[in-house]
Amino acid sequence: HAKDAGRNAFRFFAEQMNADTHERFALQTRLSGALERNELLLHFQPQVDLRTRRITGAEALVRWQDKELGLISPARFIPIAEESGLIIPIGEWVLREACRQVQAWRLAGLPDMLIAVNMSALQFRRGDIVDTVRQALQDTSLPAYCLELELTESILVGDANAMLETLRRLKSLGVQLAIDDFGTGYSSLAYLKRFPIDKLKIDQSFVRDVVEDADEAAIVHTIIQLGKNLKMTTVAEGVETEAQLAFLRVEGCREAQGYLFSRPLPPEEFYRYFKASASGVLRQPVVPSVAP
Ligand code: C2E
Ligand code: MG
Ligand code: MG
Ligand code: MG
Repeated sequence: HAKDAGRNAFRFFAEQMNADTHERFALQTRLSGALERNELLLHFQPQVDLRTRRITGAEALVRWQDKELGLISPARFIPIAEESGLIIPIGEWVLREACRQVQAWRLAGLPDMLIAVNMSALQFRRGDIVDTVRQALQDTSLPAYCLELELTESILVGDANAMLETLRRLKSLGVQLAIDDFGTGYSSLAYLKRFPIDKLKIDQSFVRDVVEDADEAAIVHTIIQLGKNLKMTTVAEGVETEAQLAFLRVEGCREAQGYLFSRPLPPEEFYRYFKASASGVLRQPVVPSVAP
């Protein structure tokens, strides 16, 4: 019966919504204690120079190790952290921990590397992001030129003059600025030209089918040219195959990040990988021993 079916569908929908809301709330409650319980950790995914295959840096990617729920991916808990405001203390922890870890590696004798840290819109809207970054650098002694902030296009929309001022102040600290997931958002080309951005990260959704799909190839080609014209470096995300890599190299993309080179690694594994790369031992991509 159509009516019953409709009613059942609604009940199913309502129950489902209830379950989702409940799960989110439960997760949010646990997450609020995760920092104190020391359950957050960072993994590091190498970024590689396309021509030499040497590591130039890494992206810090947060993970949450919950006692009962296991390893929880940021795709699941970052949205909850953003809605609840928990992203402020979490984001600050990520920033400090990334700086601390890289400075420790530098003191242990590893060459300079660039560490990229993801930023959320809320961290920028709060207004004290420049102080937070300055303080993290000061407290950890990491030189500013080793730090890169990844901003999504959603951070950059809004009051362009206020944003320009914030970005200029960040640049005057000496940090690098990158746009993450470039091409998936709404940033206008006019702003892109005005803002002091150093790097465009080509979103992995464009890289995925770049070899088979002429439209994707055209988009990637255009982003790389845009980067060249605006004097920005380009990094391709989600590079998984040699064929994708070859395409990107021919197009003049500077750097790549993806499973072809390495998955995000726990600190000790990244340290070994980077050391091998820096000493020139690493010519071919290695298959890391761990799952992401
Ligand atoms: P993102 O910043 O675009 O990071 C890249 C994501 O792509 C990572 O997922 C990485 O593991 C994955 N990835 C890398 N190479 C490949 C590949 O070759 N193939 C495929 N299929 N995937 C690849 P992850 O670690 O699950 O992070 C997901 C997202 O969570 C990140 O996307 C970022 O937006 C967010 N995130 C992670 N850490 C933080 C953080 O500390 N703060 C904030 N605000 N967001 C974070
Ligand atoms: Mg990122
Ligand atoms: Mg990205
Ligand atoms: Mg992405």
